[in-house]
Amino acid sequence: MNHFSYRDGIFHAEGVDLAKLAAEVGTPFYCYSTATLERHYRIFAAAVPKDTLIAFSVKANGNLAVLKTLQKLGAGADVVSGGELKKALAAGIAADKIVFSGVGKTKAELIAALEAGIYQFNVESEPELLALDKVAAELGKRAPVAFRINPDVDAKTHAKISTGLAETKFGIPAGRVRAAYAAAAKLKHIEIVGIDVHIGSQITDLEPFAAAFARIVELARMLRADGHTISRIDLGGGLGVPYRTDNLPPPDPAAYGALAAKLTKGMGARLIMEPGRLIAANAGILVSRVIYSKRGEKRNFLIVDAGMNDLVRPALYDAFHDIVSVREPSPDEPRERYDVVGPVCESSDIFAADRDLPQLAAGDLVAILTAGAYGAVMSSAYNARPPAPEVLVKGGEWAVVRPRMDDDAYLATERIPGWLR
Ligand SMILES: *Cc1c(COP(=O)(O)O)cnc(C)c1O
Repeated sequence: MNHFSYRDGIFHAEGVDLAKLAAEVGTPFYCYSTATLERHYRIFAAAVPKDTLIAFSVKANGNLAVLKTLQKLGAGADVVSGGELKKALAAGIAADKIVFSGVGKTKAELIAALEAGIYQFNVESEPELLALDKVAAELGKRAPVAFRINPDVDAKTHAKISTGLAETKFGIPAGRVRAAYAAAAKLKHIEIVGIDVHIGSQITDLEPFAAAFARIVELARMLRADGHTISRIDLGGGLGVPYRTDNLPPPDPAAYGALAAKLTKGMGARLIMEPGRLIAANAGILVSRVIYSKRGEKRNFLIVDAGMNDLVRPALYDAFHDIVSVREPSPDEPRERYDVVGPVCESSDIFAADRDLPQLAAGDLVAILTAGAYGAVMSSAYNARPPAPEVLVKGGEWAVVRPRMDDDAYLATERIPGWLR
């Protein structure tokens, strides 16, 4: 459930009229709902064991205002770069609620995280372990470490967001787990604290989670028998969301939480979870204005002012997004089938194919739904189009939380070298 709905014939974000907002901030823009973020966080927190560290996956939505909203509810953060670490800290998330994942942490990033005193490094390879030990030695610190295990489980999601199969770059292969922990135990500046797994994203079936969690618990038992301290079990993120309102029963956080509790029962370990999409996806929309309605030979095109540089999910992994007219259509008004496309010069710059919508014309507004996760964070300036701004709504209030960069400011980011002047 989310807090975007029609009121008095206009699509609203909570109490904010999106047509009025579009007139104020210009289009395209991202719009996030505080009430929806809060609702999703609370539902998730209520579904998992009490002491669980909920480390919001910053890569899903790293806007400072979004992070601050979640921080106030008690969220920690899962970061995958030094930049995300900086953002999480800037949003007031305590270092001891931050875990650091990712296969390619650089020395500078390891230093920053050690200096901040983060809760846990989710180490993804033996070379990373050695690099971390070396950096920790230089700083006179001990790094709290969990290895991310690749459980070789098929998450049954899109191939480009599957991370738990042996063929992917993520984690330590299950067959090398024992050796990796034995190596870590010998390092003076490494403190083994736990074990970690994350098998992918937009997973809508509990079965792959059950397989991965069971595998991790079995490995945790084995590692304890080997004498290692496994006091934390990080179960990653990946729980999916309903992108279309017309099918797919929503994955149930309560069932997911109960599964995690059941499979880790009796382990006496603190759980860590890293939800991203589940919290943010349905808490955000991308509002865009129709530039042209164009009749093609075989298709009708709605050309809108948002492009794949603003929201790349459809182009990157064939993602489906519901699209609605901001002006509420009446039930009997004529409808049309459209390809909703952006202005970017790529055939993949398409948000929806052959979509049933009310008849729309230049100047009309549309809202692309479920755009709060892996939306703005993935935006680029392709076609010299600076990314869309972001707005956060709370009740009847709104604030621009990342302003639009105008073309001149964007131009000013580049330089002509001396020999060309
Ligand atoms: C991306 C990611 C997540 C979040 O995944 P969601 O599908 O957004 O919940 C969690 N943990 C790690 C390590 C990730 O890379």
